[in-house]
Amino acid sequence: MSSPPEAGVYVHLPFCPYVCPYCDFAKWAWDDARAARYLGALRAQIASAPLVRARTLFFGGGTPSMYSPETIGALIGDVRARFGLPADAEMTAEANPDPLLAARIPSLRKAGVNRLSIGVQSFDPRESRVLGRRHTPRDVESAIRSARGSGFDNVSVDLIFGVPGQTEESWASSLDTAVALGAEHVSCYGLTIEEGTPYAAWFARDPGAFADDTLEARLYGLAMEKLRAAGFEQYEISNWAKPGFRSRHNAIYWANEDYLGLGVGAASYLGGVRSTHTRDLDAYCGAALGGRPIPGESERLEGAARTGEAIMLALRTAEGVDLARFRERYGIDVQERYRGVVGELVAAGVLDASSARLRLTERGRFVANDVCGAFLA
Ligand code: SF4
Repeated sequence: MSSPPEAGVYVHLPFCPYVCPYCDFAKWAWDDARAARYLGALRAQIASAPLVRARTLFFGGGTPSMYSPETIGALIGDVRARFGLPADAEMTAEANPDPLLAARIPSLRKAGVNRLSIGVQSFDPRESRVLGRRHTPRDVESAIRSARGSGFDNVSVDLIFGVPGQTEESWASSLDTAVALGAEHVSCYGLTIEEGTPYAAWFARDPGAFADDTLEARLYGLAMEKLRAAGFEQYEISNWAKPGFRSRHNAIYWANEDYLGLGVGAASYLGGVRSTHTRDLDAYCGAALGGRPIPGESERLEGAARTGEAIMLALRTAEGVDLARFRERYGIDVQERYRGVVGELVAAGVLDASSARLRLTERGRFVANDVCGAFLA
């Protein structure tokens, strides 16, 4: 019998202390009974999920830190028992810097979590309020202090730019604070308006309240400039790390390698098949607890869909597309197959094809979605 494939393991914990008005993730406000039922369903799914050899473990959400550290520890035990998670594997938990978090952090570390990803979004109290977040900069500081005191040496901070009312000054100050707090990793995401959210309704009423493309580009450029000056490398279009602190789990996604997603709404990519679980919480729990297949969608990526997706993911990274390795893995010569697209993007100054790799130019990073999307067309 062949040994199971290696894969990153993602576990979705979808409950939050409250629901933010811009958020489109599979998430619900915490409710004891629902959270307990979901945990039972998740543990049942882990026990019967396809076998893989875990490379990394990532608890995402939602707000994983809403569950007790003991529960997180039990889930780590389940994942280890089923998927043989190595002792030195990167184990990340996303956390919301609410006042409860600092007290939970030492036990999270003891439970085995070795990387903390804190959803700060902004250090500006007014912007936090606009985003519907209830924590204060002081809550973030005490969470980071607690993380340091408990032996976390790998802390990531998530920030959002393009928040209504945000200025270059306030964004610069959030970036400076993340750096001053000593984060090893910073993710900066442009605010996106997701259909069906309260933000979408606000945008429909008053689009002028939101950052336009020019301001967004300036804010993104500011992140590049400040984080570079502070010793971070921009290893992916939205991610910066101090040397040695790139996210190993997320690198699996960008390399188009296998990952297994567990939980409501979670996505997997295994053996060329991409699948996504239903976002219907009751349907998920019912199926997992009843031992039935989890409803959802799946498709086998083949031909141009597969190679276009692989190029799109790799282009997001600083390394870009390694042309020789791509030929070896997918059997195509990218320069040859995508000659027209590559030529146009190089002429537009957004793609660098002058070496053995294809890479976004600095200018290309500002329009990364369009450049990457050109390979999917
Ligand atoms: S805490 Fe995160 S996952 Fe939860 S509602 Fe807010 S943005 Fe969404």
